Amino acid sequence: MQDQFRRPINYLRISVTDRCNLRCIYCMPPEGVKSIKHEEILSIEEIIKAVKAGVRIGIKKIRLTGGEPLVRGGIIDLVGSLNNIPEIDDIAITTNGILLGEMVGTLKRAGLNRVNISLDTMKPERFKRITRGGNLDLVWKGINAALNAELEPVKINTVAIRGFNDDELVDLARLTLDHPLHIRFIELMPIGSSQAWARGKFIASSEVKEKIEGALGNLIAEKTIHGNGPALYTRLPGARGTIGFISAVSNHFCAGCNRLRLTSTGQLRPCLFNHREIELKQALRSGAGLEELTEIFRKAIVSKPVGHDLDKAWQEDDRVMSQIGG
Ligand code: SAM
Ligand code: SF4
Repeated sequence: MQDQFRRPINYLRISVTDRCNLRCIYCMPPEGVKSIKHEEILSIEEIIKAVKAGVRIGIKKIRLTGGEPLVRGGIIDLVGSLNNIPEIDDIAITTNGILLGEMVGTLKRAGLNRVNISLDTMKPERFKRITRGGNLDLVWKGINAALNAELEPVKINTVAIRGFNDDELVDLARLTLDHPLHIRFIELMPIGSSQAWARGKFIASSEVKEKIEGALGNLIAEKTIHGNGPALYTRLPGARGTIGFISAVSNHFCAGCNRLRLTSTGQLRPCLFNHREIELKQALRSGAGLEELTEIFRKAIVSKPVGHDLDKAWQEDDRVMSQIGG
């Protein structure tokens, strides 16, 4: 189905949990998100029912995110059930990678197609600092396991942060020379509890690109790498992997937006950067049939805004990224 601005909507990002086994400084407060009662979170069966309604208006691609999707009980069953819905042709996960090494084989067998792994630094001490305690070795194990499992393309998400990893951006880009990794540099967003921390740490994609080109030579524009995202891809000459830029703050990519989000507590959210949400959980829990649920999806698509105004939207928002599904 197309929205009011003729954008075809075929991609649903689902936050399967608001919880996480890390506490990244830019994403969560030290104590984690204010705890939402277990019964507020959609069950696996409710998520599947929601997707079955979504496919009726044209959803074909799913990304499971959070929070950390791999800490969600039943995640393997969820992937398996989504894989059994004939209209769904792509199932991806965004993960911090901590549990990926041990779970990747089972996930792939259940039907997972692709994985994005978050990695902001290659230095163990820094990783510990930005994630408030994480073990970088486990993330490398996860990345290697994803490559060995041929879950292609394996994408790496790196948030560029001034004064934290700006001296590593070139080294991260260099990884693509010898490895079939697709590294995407993401602009730091001034979100929720991290707004004060983020002040002054923003680096625009254009600056990251300049740094990389200054050190490693010109980047060649690349056609889109398989996926549904807004990254602009480039490649170093002769490199096995690619380098992408996701400029959510400096350069709106709303004109090509094809997505809806389903929050962990069961609301459809037409735009990450706009607090408007459409209630789905109540309908799911009051026994609504597929047609009624589909109608709620239609309503969400029709209410998708033409674009975002990042500064204003976040200040009014009482949700953090992990609940909405980053
Ligand atoms: N836990 C998983 C992970 O870390 O990949 C999935 C959820 S996480 C919210 C999804 C992505 O959002 C991660 O790549 C993370 O770096 C990014 N993210 C979180 N907060 C952000 C912020 N303030 N600005 C930019 N990206 C952010
Ligand atoms: Fe957890 Fe991902 Fe947020 Fe880090 S970015 S705290 S890993 S949800």
